[in-house]
Amino acid sequence: MKDQLYKHLRILQELGYEYLFMEKDMNLTEEKEKKLKEIGRAIQECKKCDLYKSRKQAVLGEGNPDSSLVFIGEAPGGDEDKLGRPFVGRAGKLLTKLIEAAGHKREEFYITNICKCRPPNNRTPTPWEMEACFPYLEKQLQIIQPKVLCLLGATAARAFLKRNVAITKERGSIINWEGKLLYLTYHPAYVLRNPDAEITLFEDIKKAIELAIEK
Ligand code: SF4
Repeated sequence: MKDQLYKHLRILQELGYEYLFMEKDMNLTEEKEKKLKEIGRAIQECKKCDLYKSRKQAVLGEGNPDSSLVFIGEAPGGDEDKLGRPFVGRAGKLLTKLIEAAGHKREEFYITNICKCRPPNNRTPTPWEMEACFPYLEKQLQIIQPKVLCLLGATAARAFLKRNVAITKERGSIINWEGKLLYLTYHPAYVLRNPDAEITLFEDIKKAIELAIEK
């Protein structure tokens, strides 16, 4: 229903309508925001794994709590740790650029990571760290109720699939997971190191968005 409405709104926008007065279930959205903030407070106190020792602050995620699509990376980097927001460094700027190139705004979706604290020197989080943090992500997903999870990079995919993932071979895969669709693609940081992969990441983001907003 939400996806259908969203499609109609996009058609109206393409027809030139700039403003629409729409009644939204504000109570439900506010309730979701409240619950997400509670998780945000819990992670600031969390010491379940050693990543708490080197963080400036834990980073919950941000965006639309009603989104049918959630982008999930592996962990905050230096800029994210400093600012308390996900995907705000160079990789985040690329992600934002590609979402916009697909005709959308970053704020339409929810963006987060598997681990909420920055690993020292931006190393890959260990399986144990990911396992320790995963329940926070599960709670976020229970609240947001998205249809599609766009997993950015092999580490995020590994956290869901509980096995090693060769992302260059498996990107573009769509996998059922607990009533949701996992869409596997590159991490934008990989694309910064391999610019030829940018078009593939763009196509994947477009496809993940289409999957999320189609009927
Ligand atoms: S990474 Fe997750 S589990 Fe580890 S300390 Fe931070 S919030 Fe807790």
